[in-house]
Amino acid sequence: MKKNKNLLEVPNINSSDAQLKKIIYKVEDNIFNRFFNSFSKSEYLCVCSGGTTSSCARDNFITLDLRKEYDHIHLEKEKNLIKIGGGVIMKDLMNFLGSQNKIFPTGLSKLPGAGYLLTGGISPLSRRYGLAIDNIETIKGYLGNGTFISLEKNNLSSDQKLLWEGFKGAAPFLAIITEIGLKTFQAHPIQIIEGFINDNELSKIINLAEGFPENLSLQWIYAQDIYIYILAEIRNDLDKEITKKYLNKLENFSSLKIKTYENYNQINFFPKELDLFELNKNNHSEVISLLGEDLKERIQIFIKCMKEIIRSKPNNSCYVASQQLGGKTKEIDPKSSFFIHRKSTWKPWIYASWKKDDLKEKEIVLNWMNESWEKLKIFFPKIHLAQIHNHLNSHEEEVYLSFEERLSELKTLKNICDPESILPPL
Ligand SMILES: Cc1cc2nc3c(=O)[nH]c(=O)nc-3n(C[C@H](O)[C@H](O)[C@H](O)COP(=O)(O)OP(=O)(O)OC[C@H]3O[C@@H](n4cnc5c(N)ncnc54)[C@H](O)[C@@H]3O)c2cc1C
Repeated sequence: MKKNKNLLEVPNINSSDAQLKKIIYKVEDNIFNRFFNSFSKSEYLCVCSGGTTSSCARDNFITLDLRKEYDHIHLEKEKNLIKIGGGVIMKDLMNFLGSQNKIFPTGLSKLPGAGYLLTGGISPLSRRYGLAIDNIETIKGYLGNGTFISLEKNNLSSDQKLLWEGFKGAAPFLAIITEIGLKTFQAHPIQIIEGFINDNELSKIINLAEGFPENLSLQWIYAQDIYIYILAEIRNDLDKEITKKYLNKLENFSSLKIKTYENYNQINFFPKELDLFELNKNNHSEVISLLGEDLKERIQIFIKCMKEIIRSKPNNSCYVASQQLGGKTKEIDPKSSFFIHRKSTWKPWIYASWKKDDLKEKEIVLNWMNESWEKLKIFFPKIHLAQIHNHLNSHEEEVYLSFEERLSELKTLKNICDPESILPPL
């Protein structure tokens, strides 16, 4: 633990450098009144689960760190349901599930916490199993107005339905979630096809991926070079046959290697050893996540656009990467949650990073992020609100592009659940 008691030990460097007013660990009955009375107008309570974003701690704000008191994991085997505390990180969930030969559609990193589960949760397995929010069965927590709430998907009253939908995709604005019940799945072997490719090959592979069956997904990172992962889950003979057919199409890509894993929990995507981008503890960063549909005949123009973006990146650590959704995520009713962009196939994210004390570079890098977003908007016009940016000028537009036709409903929910804006503002 850090010596200064007002610093939070978290993976996100911006947040771990923030000088907090105070850290608290438990949601107590009087937390809401007590803190509301001592808050200044623009202040709110920051909530930390995995601590991977720049919004879990801010200078002179109070952080509620859920990792200590809300770290329980309990499997109800007969129901295939796992109940986890609001401060559990995906690594611990995956280790536990691995020991039971089970899986959950977790994302590309084991670092994120409940923020991953509550803001959508796009996994390399989502094309077959849906988003993380599609597999939430129960939720417990405290609304911003202090009311304790316990909801079960199959036992919702008509008044609770909208709140349930709000929790799936927009929970950070409404409540502090202390427990989440998740549906789990039987683990199966995974084949990974991975390696460095050039931009011409990336365009061919994106084209191929847009025709993938639901057991396959493509993820790529474009930093200095391009690295890809194609994931294939092999549940039965049919999966084996289909995957073989696609592997044959990749035979000419000599740099790609195939690895087989016993199950999904064993895979580490984009490890440090690959040296894909500079991982620098002296840097601060922001990430913006976009959403869009199939690129189809626009793949070549998109690759050209990506080349320009990467050529102009102001710091070696900056990059653009993408993951593929679709399949099951497209089939689910868009009204069932506040993740409304169900037609999406691609979720690219722009990672913008600068030397932490260099304000000039920060401005240049954030401009690069915004300009790159502007360029990519024609392909990916929507936003996945996986990071809350109310400290950046882009916040309002990001919120609108995430919730669009449901934004006014969300604002109404916010007024009911968190009327004093104890939690991050919309
Ligand atoms: C390396 C890396 C890889 C990633 N890969 C993926 C991926 O594959 N797919 C994907 O969809 N996303 C991915 N993400 C994005 C990540 O899932 C989101 O940014 C997520 O919000 C991070 O959650 P956290 O708990 O780690 O962060 P935190 O910084 O702790 O939390 C972020 C915010 O979420 C809210 N929050 C968190 N927990 C709670 C809670 N229990 N109750 C109420 N509010 C809460 C708070 O407002 C908090 O400020 C990745 C992020 C990283 C850093």
